[in-house]
Amino acid sequence: MKAYQVIESGEPLQLNEFETPEPKGTEVLMKTIACGVCHSDVHIHEGAFDLGGGNKLPLPLDKPYTLGHEIFGEVIKLGPDASDIKIGDKRVIYPWIGCGKCDVCKVGDEHLCAAGPVLGVQKGGGFGDHVLVPHSRYLMDAGDTPAHLAGSYACSGLTAYTALKKSGVKDKENALIIVGAGGLGMMGIQIAKAAFNTKPIVVDVDDEKLKLALQNGASHVINSKHEDAAQQIQMITGGAEAVIDFVGSELSTEFATGLLRKGGKYVLVGLYGGELKQPLPLVVLLERNIQGSYVGSLANMKELMALVRDGKIDPIPVEKRKASEASQTLQDLKDGKIMGRAALMHD
Ligand SMILES: [Zn+2]
Ligand SMILES: [Zn+2]
Repeated sequence: MKAYQVIESGEPLQLNEFETPEPKGTEVLMKTIACGVCHSDVHIHEGAFDLGGGNKLPLPLDKPYTLGHEIFGEVIKLGPDASDIKIGDKRVIYPWIGCGKCDVCKVGDEHLCAAGPVLGVQKGGGFGDHVLVPHSRYLMDAGDTPAHLAGSYACSGLTAYTALKKSGVKDKENALIIVGAGGLGMMGIQIAKAAFNTKPIVVDVDDEKLKLALQNGASHVINSKHEDAAQQIQMITGGAEAVIDFVGSELSTEFATGLLRKGGKYVLVGLYGGELKQPLPLVVLLERNIQGSYVGSLANMKELMALVRDGKIDPIPVEKRKASEASQTLQDLKDGKIMGRAALMHD
């Protein structure tokens, strides 16, 4: 098999060839068809998250490693104990795999497990042309979703769906604000409409992305660079019930929390980095709920994929790239040059 691998943090990926793994026990070997490229891949490639104040959270990963956690592939080989799947099945892979033994895993929150092995982080991901999955329970039927789009439900779709559930907004107009109109934001709009009967107001600093958000169903779009952006939003919402922040920078956090009504909820999803600075008395006096949200559980993924198969969620724009363009695609994503999502297509 071959894979575009991280050899040194932040350096261009390298094409390596090595032996294709043999599935053992319940394992399933998939041939990668497409793999979405996510902002997390950019951070993992850089080898650290920015904690603000000059501090970094390093990611101690054994190099070389293979990125890519938005994987869509075809089953090509089964371990002797694999069940409920057959060769030729095409599936989206749930990559947020846990140890299966610790307390969070036992309650179904494998995505919060400290041990992993997460695909595309600790274990080889979809920047490789084959992926080994430990069990068929992590394989999801995407119905007739096109290959280049399907993988995006495993991260951006799942992340947006989970954050929307946490926001608590349902069946309401102009109560929810989405900050960030990239791939996640775009997915957030579609899922808010489809599963929560809510059209969000979308905020970004890029007018092109806002235009796309409006075409994709945002109720209003506001450029936060405009001086009166916060007042404009206040006029529409009268104070938002919830804000989902898909950027997660110091600027977006300050802006987003300022839009909430009393008792409102701020759901922080983006990993841009920095520190959360809040006037503490306001957290108390306004009963601000501040909640982090990281990808999502296997149960949430199942709920989401049922909506996908039923055709309830409109597709987001996904640009197809060749797998050999993996390095450039990471750079383009970092530079904010991708509209919606990009997916690497393997031959
Ligand atoms: Zn991701
Ligand atoms: Zn665990």
